[in-house]
Formats: sequence, C-alpha cells, structure tokens
Amino acid sequence: MENQQTVTIPSQSLPVNHTPDVVVVGGGATGIAAAIAAARNGASTLLIEQRGYLGGMGTAALVPAFCPYTDGEKPVIRGIGLDLLEKMKQAAGEKFLQSYKEQLDWVPIDVETLKRVYDAEVLASGAKILFHTVADQVLLDGDRISGLVISNKSGRSVIQAKLYIDASGDADLAALAGVPFQVGGEQGELQPGTMCYVVTGADRARFEQFLEETGERNQLERTVMEAQRNGDLPEGRKRISGMAWITDSVVGFNFGHVFGIDGTKAEDLTRAAIEGRKLIDTQMRFLRKYVPGFEHIHLVHSGDQIGIRETRRIQGDYTLVVEDFLSMRSFEDDIARNSYFIDIHLANAGSTMTIKHLPKGKSHGVPYRCMLPHGKSNLIVAGRSVSSDRPVQGSLRVMPNCFAMGEAAGVAAAMASFARIGFREVPVPELQRKLVEQGAWLGERPGQAGADQAVAVGAVTFNDECE
Ligand SMILES: Cc1cc2nc3c(=O)[nH]c(=O)nc-3n(C[C@H](O)[C@H](O)[C@H](O)COP(=O)(O)OP(=O)(O)OC[C@H]3O[C@@H](n4cnc5c(N)ncnc54)[C@H](O)[C@@H]3O)c2cc1C
Repeated sequence: MENQQTVTIPSQSLPVNHTPDVVVVGGGATGIAAAIAAARNGASTLLIEQRGYLGGMGTAALVPAFCPYTDGEKPVIRGIGLDLLEKMKQAAGEKFLQSYKEQLDWVPIDVETLKRVYDAEVLASGAKILFHTVADQVLLDGDRISGLVISNKSGRSVIQAKLYIDASGDADLAALAGVPFQVGGEQGELQPGTMCYVVTGADRARFEQFLEETGERNQLERTVMEAQRNGDLPEGRKRISGMAWITDSVVGFNFGHVFGIDGTKAEDLTRAAIEGRKLIDTQMRFLRKYVPGFEHIHLVHSGDQIGIRETRRIQGDYTLVVEDFLSMRSFEDDIARNSYFIDIHLANAGSTMTIKHLPKGKSHGVPYRCMLPHGKSNLIVAGRSVSSDRPVQGSLRVMPNCFAMGEAAGVAAAMASFARIGFREVPVPELQRKLVEQGAWLGERPGQAGADQAVAVGAVTFNDECE
C-alpha cells in the first residue's frame, strides 16, 4: 500500500523450541496426510495448525461432504485419504455406516467424528501436533529455509526442521519465503466463498417424498429460482450445491456465495464471515418456507470461517495446465491421479460456472514437480495451491486430491530427511514405489507417460454437477 505508515520492530532473540526432521504447516486434508506419511516413513514430524482441531475446510468451514474418490468406475484416490474416509464411516455410528458403507463419492462429513479420527490417526502415526499456532515468518539461508517462526499463547519461537511442508492451503510459507505465485484469474477474479452450516430438525422422509412427487432434484433448482423470483433469496447461485444428510434429521449445507473475498486478507475474511452469517439467516427462512421436510429446522453451527476455494497458486517446476487435464496426460513423475471435474464457481452473481468432466474411468496424472516451488530446495507445497493454471486448480483443490498430494509430499519429506537431500534430489521412481506399496494409486502403469491418453479432448463431457 502506498504511503502506508510503518514501524520498525527491534530485533528479537527467539527460542528454538522444536527441531523435527519435518514440519508440516496446516492441518487440513493435505497436512494431515503429509504428517501421517512423513511419520510412518520414519521422520520425526511436527504438524502445526492455527486452530484447535484438524480438518481445515472440511471441519473449520463445515464443507459438508467429501468429493468423489472414484473416477466413476474405481477409486482413484486410495492410500491415507481413503483409509481416513473409511475410519470416519466406522467411527460415526452404525446408522451412518449402514447408510454410506458402499459409497466413496460425496460421503457426508460428520464433523465431530472426523475431528477425533484425524487426531487419533495423526497421533498414531507418531507425528506430534501443535494447535493454536500460526506460522508467520520464515528464516532463509540461500535457497534453504533455515527456520520457521511461529506464534502462539506461549509467545514467539522458532522451529528448525530439515524439511518444510506447506499445507496451509494458501501457500503461506511459500509466499513468506518469496516464492512467486499467482492469485485467481487475469483480472484478479477469485472463486467466491461459502459460509457452510449444519441444521437439525429436518425430516428426510418428507423431503424425499417431495422430490419424488414434484420431480424436483436434490439441488432444488426450481425451488431456489422460485424463491429468487419472489425476492426470498438473493440472485446468484441457482441451486443448493451440497446438501449432505449426516443423519435423517441433521443436514450440512454448502449453499450460496459471498463474492470478492481474498482469503489471504483478514479484512476480507471478516466481511465474509459477517455477510455469510446474514446469508444463512435468509436461507433458513427460505428452507422453512419453501422446502417440505425443513419446516422445523434449527441452525446448529455455521463455519468457524467462510469456506475459501481459491487463493495463491505457486510457480513450481511444472505448471499443470488445462490441456494436460483434457488430454488426460500422464507424466514420468506422477505422484497422484485426478479425475475430479473442473469446478470453478462464478466470480460474481452475474457470471456462470465453469464445469468440465473427464469421461468415466479416466484421470490424469499429477506430477511431483507441481509441488516444488521455484527457488527453494527444502520446501514443498501440497494441496490446493500447487503449481497449476486456474482451471486445473478448480479441479485439484478438493479434499481427496489434497490427501493424495499431501501423502506424496510426506513420503518425499521422509526420504529427503534420511538421505539429507533437498526435495528436488528425491529419486522419483523410489517415491512412486513407496507410494504404491503404501496403498496409493498412480494409474495402471505408474510413471509411464501416455497412460489414459487414448481418449482425446473431444470426448470430454460437460454437465452441471458441482460441489
Ligand atoms: C465452500 C466450499 C465447498 C467445498 N466443497 C467440497 C466438497 O464438497 N468436497 C471436497 O472434497 N472438497 C470441497 N471443497 C474443497 C476443499 O474443502 C478444500 O480445497 C480443501 O479442504 C483444501 O485442503 P488443504 O488441506 O489444502 O487446505 P485447508 O483445508 O484450507 O487446510 C489448511 C489448514 O492450514 C491451516 N493454516 C493455514 N495457514 C496457516 C498458518 N500460517 N499457520 C498455521 N496454520 C495455518 C488452516 O487453519 C487449515 O486448517 C470445498 C471448498 C469450499 C471452500
């Protein structure tokens, strides 16, 4: 900001309180899988998280369901991510398990169960957790990060690790370390945020009867549009994208948008929280008035923060682009595969959503190089801010993919720690072998260029499903 007043803070001596092999910043899907993988592969691992629980958007922002783990035919995301999904189902009680046992796509999130599962699984891996802690500065030594300054109730201190995993979702560490990045589209446009929430007192049987009798679909397009025409809902999104039945009376909602929010700015997050909660109030009145089965609902919980779909995308050694997605390209250094569609939510109430599907049974590779940030040797960035163009970010960003990328980053970190090398020196064939041995799926012919390329761009289908 021009002419901004500044203050120079006296230099400080800070205690070095932790010296793990690997530090993971951020306890969302990415960081959880990264920490588990690093620890299981023998590295002493510390996971730091600014909140008092794990799960990131899936718990803090109450994103109501896991996006598909499958390509419509088989699970594409396996390994730690799939295991965590199954553990949540098991822990959520007999009724939940019965309802979703066979389901791998759009499984609802039972938030409190998921938080406990994440705690237990990270601790069981041997990784340590430090909650209520923010990473706010990196110390640099040439191309290496030599320390990470953290801030919490105990004060400021330094973590000195060998390897650093940025799983902040916003590439906070990379940005602090001076890695080049892009935010949003050419005009700075960003996907909107959504304040998700959970209601109780719904009647699933009555709601399903309404769908059956009227031919209305789950996302309630007709009902939403009628309410918009009557002025009972604001213009914008024409449907409820995510309605997830956690029990027959408790439902999670991902509904409506708050526009113009940059999730790396506290002021924007504050405005979005306030606007988001107002919007929920409007939606509660809409649901009670228009949707059979929802007449007597009560709001239980709104997100601790607005859900953020998009912020920074780092510049990495390879940038995955939409042509790679559409041609279902494989790479020599694939560490995961993605079959989720390009799901870019409208940047303002007047524009339309971009949605592009791959054919059933098809996926593309996610190369290791997308996680390697320009100019830094012991930093890796995983999750929704890896190096990709904007359309691909609109696909890669979902939680199953984040688990897969996080797992690869964690295994790579453990390997680099033992060999005392940087992330770029990690032997990728060995990394791929370990990932496959540990349950990940890298395609029928892991690491071989050309797999899945038989179907060309023209076979891509378009429809209007989305999270
Ligand atoms: C409204 C909405 C709906 C969505 N719907 C779905 C869906 O239905 N299914 C699906 O699978 N995906 C969905 N997504 C996408 C998905 O939830 C996120 O993209 C995904 O959770 C990203 O995972 P992540 O671990 O990379 O980041 P996050 O989930 O954002 O986790 C990052 C973690 O890092 C912590 N953190 C950040 N910075 C710091 C710091 N400096 N110091 C310490 N801690 C820090 C945060 O507190 C957070 O816990 C949705 C997203 C939104 C916003």
